[in-house]
Amino acid sequence: MTLDALINSLKDIETITDPHQVAKLSQDYHTFSPVLVPKLAGKVGDIVVRPAHEQEVIQVAAICAAHRVPVTVRGAGTGNYGQCVPLHGGVILDTTKLQKILWVKPGVARVETGVKLAALDKKAREIGWEMRMEPSTYRTATIGGFVAGGSGGIGSVQYGLLGDRGNLLALRVVTLESEPRVIELRGDDVQKVNHAWGINGIITEVEVPLGPAYPWAEVIVTFDNFITAAQFGKALANADGMIKKLVTIFASPIPQYFHPLHSYIPQGTHPAFLILAETSLESLPGLVQQYGGKITYQKPAEEVGKGLNLAEFTWNHTTLHARNVDNSITYLQSIIPANQDLQLVADLYHYFGDEVMIHLEFIRVNGAVVPAALQLVRYSTEERLNEIIRYHEAKGVLIANPHTYIIEDGGRKVIDPEQLKFKEMVDPYGLMNPGKSKVLEFKAQKRS
Ligand code: FAD
Repeated sequence: MTLDALINSLKDIETITDPHQVAKLSQDYHTFSPVLVPKLAGKVGDIVVRPAHEQEVIQVAAICAAHRVPVTVRGAGTGNYGQCVPLHGGVILDTTKLQKILWVKPGVARVETGVKLAALDKKAREIGWEMRMEPSTYRTATIGGFVAGGSGGIGSVQYGLLGDRGNLLALRVVTLESEPRVIELRGDDVQKVNHAWGINGIITEVEVPLGPAYPWAEVIVTFDNFITAAQFGKALANADGMIKKLVTIFASPIPQYFHPLHSYIPQGTHPAFLILAETSLESLPGLVQQYGGKITYQKPAEEVGKGLNLAEFTWNHTTLHARNVDNSITYLQSIIPANQDLQLVADLYHYFGDEVMIHLEFIRVNGAVVPAALQLVRYSTEERLNEIIRYHEAKGVLIANPHTYIIEDGGRKVIDPEQLKFKEMVDPYGLMNPGKSKVLEFKAQKRS
């Protein structure tokens, strides 16, 4: 099908064909990875299509299925693994016009896929609720993009990861068939599409549970010793009576990349960045004293949202700040077993020194607090990066490798058979984000 014929058949649906715009909307933040950049260079879609409601999504799906045109769905394009980069051209389906907040009730909300996480959070706060967890890109990221491409973030210390049972209630999905169907997935069935990188149908609506909205305060505590800082983080994350949304620990010299915060973090110290319910603040100094830390910054809830925003220095924003100063820096994503008083964290810290600078995000996994890490790596070669990954894995660290655009080689390791079955049903021609799954490529080769 020619581009002109495609545009004609899309009728009233907004399209973008300007090559610069199309190239821009074929990108995401895989640029954090020096390994992915050359592999994805020059990969662009042919056209961007911007449906404004589900009926238009169905129309695009029908045309693309009928003419076997590849479809790469895109929210805000803040994903880090090239998930939004089309490997085989075709249509970029931009969801950002699907902007309706359908309803918000105590403890639950339903929205269209292109709603920005910050917009939903704001709306929910009007009735005393908020998103349970958000990536640090919450201002720009869409909820559909978070479901299909993200994993957790600010709030995960309390609620775990998005994939944990109960953190996602329902999804509405359009299939890529000549006569597209609209399927509602509820309960455990949402896992058929969760974190599937847009290969398993086009999400049009998302229903999520909410958490109670507290007045949140922001705090920085500094420590002279990194391991003590990490142990403090673990103790706070485990303090059941204290309500928190963020417990982040940075090894020096990471804070050197946070220019606006330099006056709160003496050189050579190792800070904890915390977001705590204001009611928990009175209990903090006792714990800080126990670990020999010093509170250097505290922002009351009524001032949060003005000026500095600690959340935007955490999760993968840490990597963003570091790369703004030194773009040879890259990162890893991992979960480190919380064994023997964080002995493994200590071993890794001493073994790699400044080559792998440790950034910990405490999260809940299966009911227990563990340190996730988004280590900053001083990149030299791909071989060395792989050696670093292998060293971590040999020690029992789970690495969700952000230097691959193949879904099974990243965090997932294997594709869930249920996801695979669902994929075969909703995308029978293999048009959705093709090339991102090893299993599917293998199956396609066997068929041909
Ligand atoms: P996109 O990047 O547009 O899409 C992500 C994936 O979802 C793609 O595969 C796309 O095809 C698919 N997709 C999008 N919409 C749909 C749909 N409607 N139907 C089907 N598939 C769809 N991630 C975290 O989990 N936690 C973090 O704290 C975090 N911090 C980050 C910090 C920085 C600085 C950056 C650059 C990234 C960070 N990320 C983080 C990654 C990313 O920002 C989040 O996962 C975000 O939620 C993605 O949303 P998006 O709208 O940008 O999705």
